[in-house]
Amino acid sequence: MRQRNYLTPTLRDVPADAEIKSHQLMLRSGLIRQTASGIYSYLPLGKKVLRKVEEIIRSEMDEAGGQEVLMPAIQPAELWEESGRLGDYGPELMRLKDRHDRDFVLGATHEEVITTLVRDDVKSYKKLPMNLYQIQTKYRDERRPRFGVLRSREFIMKDAYSFDTSQEGLDKSYQDMYSAYQNIFSRCELDFRAVEADSGAIGGTDTHEFMVLSEIGEDTIAYSDQSDFAANIEIAPVHAKYEKASADPLELEKVDTPNTKTIADLTSFLQVNSNETIKSLLFIVNEEPVLVLVRGDHEVNEVKVGNVLGKAVVELATPEQTARILGCETGYIGPIDVPNSVKIIADHAVEFVTNGVCGANEKDKHYKNVNPGRDFAVAGYEDLRLIQEGDPSPDGKGTIQFAKGIEVGHVFKLGTKYSEALGATFLDENGKTQSLIMGCYGIGVSRTVAAIVEQHHDENGIVWPASVAPFDLHLVTINVKDEGQRNLGEELYQTLKQERYDVLFDDRPERAGVKFKDSDLLGLPIRIGVGKKAAEGIVELKIRKTGEMIEVHISDLLDTLK
Ligand code: ATP
Ligand code: MG
Ligand code: MG
Ligand code: MG
Repeated sequence: MRQRNYLTPTLRDVPADAEIKSHQLMLRSGLIRQTASGIYSYLPLGKKVLRKVEEIIRSEMDEAGGQEVLMPAIQPAELWEESGRLGDYGPELMRLKDRHDRDFVLGATHEEVITTLVRDDVKSYKKLPMNLYQIQTKYRDERRPRFGVLRSREFIMKDAYSFDTSQEGLDKSYQDMYSAYQNIFSRCELDFRAVEADSGAIGGTDTHEFMVLSEIGEDTIAYSDQSDFAANIEIAPVHAKYEKASADPLELEKVDTPNTKTIADLTSFLQVNSNETIKSLLFIVNEEPVLVLVRGDHEVNEVKVGNVLGKAVVELATPEQTARILGCETGYIGPIDVPNSVKIIADHAVEFVTNGVCGANEKDKHYKNVNPGRDFAVAGYEDLRLIQEGDPSPDGKGTIQFAKGIEVGHVFKLGTKYSEALGATFLDENGKTQSLIMGCYGIGVSRTVAAIVEQHHDENGIVWPASVAPFDLHLVTINVKDEGQRNLGEELYQTLKQERYDVLFDDRPERAGVKFKDSDLLGLPIRIGVGKKAAEGIVELKIRKTGEMIEVHISDLLDTLK
C-alpha cells in the first residue's frame, strides 16, 4: 500500500480530550476518528488491525467448533419483552421505532435473537451441542463513554452462544471457550488474567472475565502470585466458602430488614450495627430486597457488595451508578425493573457479611452483632475482613496481589434462563421435551485493539505485536527526490509484495524526520529504510520493538526478514 494516498492522518500533538495512551495513540496514528461521543470511525489502518484481531478470534472459534453466523443489529423490542429484559436493561439499551410505530432496539447483546433462532430450527438432541458466534456491531448507550474505543457506545463484539443438552455438556462447552479465549488473548500478545467474576455462586466457576492487566483498567483484580487463582476484587472475599462455625450455636439477634423504608433507615441500621463506615442502598427487586453496600473508605472500584447475584450489581461503583444500573433514581426504594440476573441469594449460608451485620440466610432478615470467626468461618480466611494485598491465596498457594484490569472478554454459564423465557426446547433421547442449556461468551473486539495499544507502546508510538500489526513491513524511501533511492524503493516494494509481505510503502515527498517519526508512531514491526546507501544496494532495517538497526544488502534482505 502506497502511503502517498493512504488515509493515515497522523497527529503530532496529543489530542486534548484523550486521557489515556491508547486513545491518544489511536488518534495520533490515524487509526480512528470520533464521529460522535462514543461513536468512532475506523480509518484504513484501524480497520486492518480490527481484521487481524477478528481473524485470530475466528480461527480459534472455528477450531473450537464454533459456527459463524450474522444476526441483525436491529431487533424487535417484543423479543426483549418476551425474555423479560426490555425494562431491565435500562437506558443502556438504545431504542427506536420504525415508520409503523413498531418498537425496535439496537442490539446490546444477542441472547434473545439467537435463542429464538435455535428454538425454531433445532429440535432434537441429535443436533446438539452447538456453538454459534458472530462478530458484529453492538450498541450500548453508556452513560460515560470514554477512553476512545475502550468504552464506546457503538463497538464491535464477538459473541458466541452454546447450546447443550446437559450440565456436563455446558461445562465442556464453557471449558472449550475458556481455552479458546486463552489462545486468542495470548496470540494478541496481551498480558491477561482470567478471573472469577461472580459473587453469586460462591466458590463456583460460572463466569470468568478476561482481564488485561493495565493501570487504566476500571476493575481491580486479586490474584495469587503463585497459582492460577484470580478473582475480581468485588468477589474475592466471598470466593472462600462461608461456613457456620461449628463451635458456637448462633447467639445472634435476628432482625427484620425489609420494612426499612428509606435508605437513611437502612444506613443507620447498618451504622449502628457495624463498626464500618458503610453507605448502603436497599433496592426492592422483583419484590425482594437487594442490599448494596458501599464502603465509604474504599475507592470506587473497591466497592464491596453483598453477594448479590448478577454482574450488574457486582460491578457497582458509586451509589449513583448502582441506581442507574438498577434503573432507578438514587435513593428510590420500591418495586423497580432490574435485570433478572439481579436477585438476592437467600439460600446461601451468608448473604452478606461485614463486621457486625450479616445475612441470616433467610429472606428479609439479618443478624446483628455477628462475630466473624465465632459465628461464621470462612475456609481459607482467618476472619471475614476484605481481601488485602499480601493475604494468603484462598487456594493456599502464594500471596494475593492486586492489579487493575481491562475486561476484554467474558464467559458466562447461562443455564436455561433464556431458553425457558423464550421456549427454546429440544427432544431428548427419551423423546422428552427439555430446555436448552446455554452459555454465552463475549469478546470486545474493538476494546481488545485498544488494550493491545495500551500494553504495546513506547514514548514514540505504538509497537504492534506482529500478530496484529496492520502491515508486516514499513518500507520507507527516505528521499524520494533521489532517483536511486526512489527506484530501489519501488523495486523492493514489488519484490516484497511478491513474497507475500503486506507492505506499507512510504513514498511520500516528506522530510526524513517526518517519515521516521510517523513510522515509529505507526509502529509496524520492521522498518526498511532506503536511504543514502541505496547506490550500494544497502538498506537499513529498524526493529521497532528493540530499536535495533541493521544494515542489510538487498541480496540478503529476504533471508534476513525470515
Ligand atoms: P463493562 O464491564 O466494561 O461495562 P460488560 O461486562 O458490560 O463490560 P459484557 O456484557 O460482558 O460487557 O460484553 C462482552 C464484552 O464486550 C466485554 O467483555 C467487553 O470486552 C466488551 N464491551 C462491553 N461494553 C463495551 C463498550 N462500551 N465498549 C467497548 N467494548 C465493550
Ligand atoms: Mg457494561
Ligand atoms: Mg463487566
Ligand atoms: Mg462482562
